Amino acid sequence: MKTVTLNLEDEMFAKIAGIAKQAGIAEQDTAEWFTQQVQQRLEELLPSGSSGWMPREQWDALVRGENCAFCAQLEKNGAFDGYGFIIADLSVTRLKLTKNQYIHGECILTSKHHIKEFYDLSQEDRSLFIEDLARSAKAIEKVFAPLKMSVDMGSSGYPHLYCRLKPRYYGDAAPGHMAERILPSHEYAKYVSELRAALAE
Ligand SMILES: [Zn+2]
Repeated sequence: MKTVTLNLEDEMFAKIAGIAKQAGIAEQDTAEWFTQQVQQRLEELLPSGSSGWMPREQWDALVRGENCAFCAQLEKNGAFDGYGFIIADLSVTRLKLTKNQYIHGECILTSKHHIKEFYDLSQEDRSLFIEDLARSAKAIEKVFAPLKMSVDMGSSGYPHLYCRLKPRYYGDAAPGHMAERILPSHEYAKYVSELRAALAE
């Protein structure tokens, strides 16, 4: 392993420390956190990085619904499905609070149908999907009070329809590939129950 030294202007470091603090990183962990961020972005830049496509045969099998991680998660009915904390089963989707809370309040809305694109849903299911999305976004807005709701539909290129709902806050870092942020378990439980209450309104 090679160690590379990076010289940062004080002002630049102060900005980074500010973003880290906002993400809930303790002051003494700032440098390590920053190193992770740089490594992740480097991986994205390199052709052999983890952000590339999966092998083609695997993709084709996934499109057919074989070994789909999202379908496997949908079969779990406890509080946690390995990826997120289940908030509610809506008409044609399931809403979850993602375990990685780097983006405060991020949720994922997964289609109950194994389908690749939202426009492949029947007209009726498509309407229900949009309605589920709107309900979910409103509940997140109520609980987390963001300035803006960023909605990504299937941006990571997995062939099972889902949306990522990313609340945005004033002055936050632009959403992207981010480090993991795990909350104490009682906080997930608190947010899940608040989101359920907001959905019920
Ligand atoms: Zn699936």
